[in-house]
Amino acid sequence: MRVAVASGKGGTGKTSLACALARALGPGAALLDCDVEEPDCALFIKPRIEREAEFTVPVPAVDSAKCDGCGRCAEVCVYNAIKIFGGRPFLFAHMCHSCGGCARACPRKAISEVPRVSGKVRQGRAGDLYFADGIMAVGEASPVRLIKAVKKEAPPARHVIVDCPPGTSCPMIAAVTGANFCLLVSEPTPFGLCDLKLAVETLKKIGVPHALVINRSDLGEGEMEAWCASKGIRILLKIPFDREIAAAYSRGETLLEARPEYREKLLALFSALPEDAV
Ligand code: SF4
Ligand code: SF4
Repeated sequence: MRVAVASGKGGTGKTSLACALARALGPGAALLDCDVEEPDCALFIKPRIEREAEFTVPVPAVDSAKCDGCGRCAEVCVYNAIKIFGGRPFLFAHMCHSCGGCARACPRKAISEVPRVSGKVRQGRAGDLYFADGIMAVGEASPVRLIKAVKKEAPPARHVIVDCPPGTSCPMIAAVTGANFCLLVSEPTPFGLCDLKLAVETLKKIGVPHALVINRSDLGEGEMEAWCASKGIRILLKIPFDREIAAAYSRGETLLEARPEYREKLLALFSALPEDAV
C-alpha cells in the first residue's frame, strides 16, 4: 500500500503527519521524503544514512566542429533552454528538462548528452523504518526527475508513505502519481480551504482516491467540513490545536512523541483506507 501525504499549501503539518504515520506503522513501513526542494522528514525521524548517491540528469553538449548554427535545436526546445547567439547554440542548463528533443532534431548530429549533477538521493533507516529522501541541488529548476528517483527507492512489499511537496503543480503530481491513496492534510482557514479545493481537483484529474486530515481542527467555523460533506470527501482524522504538539514540532519531534495516543488513531486511519486502494 502506497499512501501519499499531500497538502494544497505548506505549513499544514503534512510532514509531521507523514512521519508520525510511518512511525506508527512500525516495522515493514517505508518513508519516502519526496519534498526534495525542502526535505525535512530526516529532522523528525533522524535516520542513520546508509547510502548517498549523486543524482544526475542528461543535458545536451554541442560539438562545435559539427554544428553549423542552423538553430533547429532552439526551435524544438519548448523549455527555452537553448538560444542561438552569434550563430551558435547556447545552453541554459538549469532550464533543460532532459527531454532529448534537441539531440534528435539536430540535422548534423552535433548534440550528444552528458550527465549533470542535479541533486542527491539518500537511503537509510530509523530503527525498523526504511527511509529515503532526495535533496535538490541549489539552482535546479525542476525537482520532478529527482522525485521520481526517490520513488524508485521504495522497497517492495512494504507500506510506503510518501511525503509530497506542497502545492498542486508538477512536483506534487509527480510525487502523488502511482499512490494507492492520498491523504490530504489541511487546516480550516480560508486559505486552507481554497488550496484544498485545488488539491482535490488535481487528485480527481489524475485519478487518485483521497480523504482529508484536518490539522488544528478547532480553529475554523465548520466551512471545511461542510465543503467536504458537499463533495463526499471523508475526513479521517481531526487534530485540534495542541500546544504540546506545536512545541514537539519545534524540537523536531512528531506528534507521536508529544501525544502517543495518536498512534492508535493513525493506525485506525490507515486501516480505514478503502479496500480497493489497498
Ligand atoms: S540543431 Fe545542431 S547544427 Fe543546428 S544549431 Fe543546434 S546543434 Fe548546431
Ligand atoms: S534536452 Fe530537451 S529541454 Fe534540454 S535543451 Fe534539449 S530540447 Fe531543451
